[in-house]
Amino acid sequence: MTATLDLRSDTVTRPTPAMRQAMAEALVGDDVYLEDPTVNRLQETTAELFGFEAALFVPTGSMGNQICVKLHTQPGQEVLLDVRAHIYNWELAMPAAFSGVLPRLIQTANGHPTWEQLAAAIQPKTYYRAQTGLVCLENTHNMAGGTIMPVAQFREICEQAHAAGLKVHLDGARIFNAAIALGLPVAELVQGVDSVMFCLSKGLGAPIGSMICGSREFIERARALRKMLGGGMRQVGVLAAAGLVALAESPAKLAVDHENARFIACEIAELPGVLLDPASVVTNIVIADVSGTGMTATTVCERLAYRGVLAGAVSTYEVRFVTHYDVDTVSCRTAVQAMRRVLIDLD
Ligand SMILES: *Cc1c(COP(=O)(O)O)cnc(C)c1O
Repeated sequence: MTATLDLRSDTVTRPTPAMRQAMAEALVGDDVYLEDPTVNRLQETTAELFGFEAALFVPTGSMGNQICVKLHTQPGQEVLLDVRAHIYNWELAMPAAFSGVLPRLIQTANGHPTWEQLAAAIQPKTYYRAQTGLVCLENTHNMAGGTIMPVAQFREICEQAHAAGLKVHLDGARIFNAAIALGLPVAELVQGVDSVMFCLSKGLGAPIGSMICGSREFIERARALRKMLGGGMRQVGVLAAAGLVALAESPAKLAVDHENARFIACEIAELPGVLLDPASVVTNIVIADVSGTGMTATTVCERLAYRGVLAGAVSTYEVRFVTHYDVDTVSCRTAVQAMRRVLIDLD
């Protein structure tokens, strides 16, 4: 077997030498006492970059999302979500277990509901119906293949949801991928939303951590909830230091990941039994439907792994490839070649 190429996720990225150095040299203090200067700097930098009053470092994106869901809702309310949303599918039923809310799911073509679809799912305001409390959006949309929500659609949803008395939370785990693909600052992509979460630990390459942004009052309450969940950390400046390098240096590198993903998509879309529209691949995620090959996604992934390429079986017939800076263009060619052997040579 040749060296392993890991295209399962952009979470597998390891810290860059610049991050390691910043981590080693970080000034630290006890962040539960609000005394870690590097964490404070990361939070201030993030709030400014995103155009919010305040920001908070959280250990994972899941914790960040679930803190926001809890703060925006009351038990017994409904939350509107796309059927493939990460908050619904990959966060262990926490909307129910932690916030006591009921997800009301919306079928969308590309992961991004329109305001019309959301409006149709809002419960009538009568005492015998559960009330809708929150809209959750995801940009880019992971399980829809890294698709981007159009800015106009996003703004309309924020405005109309607020007019209807609803809060809006954005799961922006990969918001920098959307920003780079559109050539717009992240602040423009999140303007109008009540809270946003994004990950430092994915394509931006930091080892650990995500951020949530909101009003000052919201972030104060979020800090208390983070502590309740056991997420009050001490000299966490060693992680924040990597996060600051990630914000400064990593976004500019994402365009290469997008080119690599487009290359993989164009090549494997040509293979027999693969259903994939390369034009839909605009960021760093490629999801190929392999049902026409007669193999399940798990079988395809096992055979790819045998050839040194790791991809993810994200449903029975869907294989996901995620590009990131630890995988260069040459490696992507190797991955395509492996996929060709698996599907055509059937070894
Ligand atoms: C990765 C991811 C998260 C958070 O994941 P953690 O592993 O908890 O950091 C949230 N939303 C989306 C869309 C993601 O891809």
